[in-house]
This record gives sequence, structure tokens and C-alpha cells, in this order.
Amino acid sequence: MSNLDALYQEIILEHNRRPKNHGAMEGADRELRGRNPSCGDSLTLWVKFDGDVVADARFVGEGCAISKASASMMTAAVKGKSRAEAEALFEQVHRMLTGTLPEAERKPLGALAALAGVARFPNRVKCASMAWHTLHEALHTPSAGGAPPAPTG
Ligand code: ZN
Repeated sequence: MSNLDALYQEIILEHNRRPKNHGAMEGADRELRGRNPSCGDSLTLWVKFDGDVVADARFVGEGCAISKASASMMTAAVKGKSRAEAEALFEQVHRMLTGTLPEAERKPLGALAALAGVARFPNRVKCASMAWHTLHEALHTPSAGGAPPAPTG
């Protein structure tokens, strides 16, 4: 194992041990479920928008270390990004996970490049991509209401 592989593995394990943005969100604009039956991974993703910007993203997930680490990294990466930026990130990560993103283009992905090694293990690609596909769906799901719900009581 190269030093880089060891570093990447450590990043994934650390995100699995202490996932960022873990826990349900109140008042989210989107709530979506993601599933990866091939490994038994699942997650619920909550996204809150502020205009065109992803103001907050949180998740609760069950499954393997890669699926949780990927969700943790994804929520941390998309916060503060516009929908277009978040969508572009999804495309880049998707290409990286399927091995079609040239190594030279990985640099802007920062810590997300830790997921690049997954491309060598085809049966784990879905573990890493589940959270990103759920994000992709959240970005394209129209808001149910638009206006915030009226206060009750
Ligand atoms: Zn998995």
C-alpha cells in the first residue's frame, strides 16, 4: 500500500468514526432516502436551501464504513455551494468513482480524492456513490411547497 493509499484509508476511517453532519435535520427543504441493496447500505439525506445555495446538509446512515464516510464527506463538501456547483461536484465525484476522471483533475476535489481508490473495487463503488446519487436527486427534486409552512398553534 502506498503512502497515499494509507492516507486516504485513514481519512475514510476517520469520517466513519466521527461522521460530519450526522443526525436528522428540522425544517429541511428536502428529505430523501438512498439505498445500496448490494451491500445493505442506506441513508436519509436532509438538505436545506438558502435561495440557490445549499445552506445545510445532514444525514443518518447505516451500512459500511465507505458508505458512511462518503456521506460525511459529501455533506461537508456541498455546504455553502450553489446548486450548480454541487451538481458539478456530483459529476466529478461520479467520474472519479467510475475511474473516468483523470488524476490531474482530482486536485480540486481535496479530501474527496480519498474516495478515488474505491474505483479499483467495483463492488464498493455503489457504497461510495449512494450518498452522491441521493444528493443529485435532492438537487433535482422540486420543493413540495416553496413557502415555509405556516406556524401552528
Ligand atoms: Zn457498503
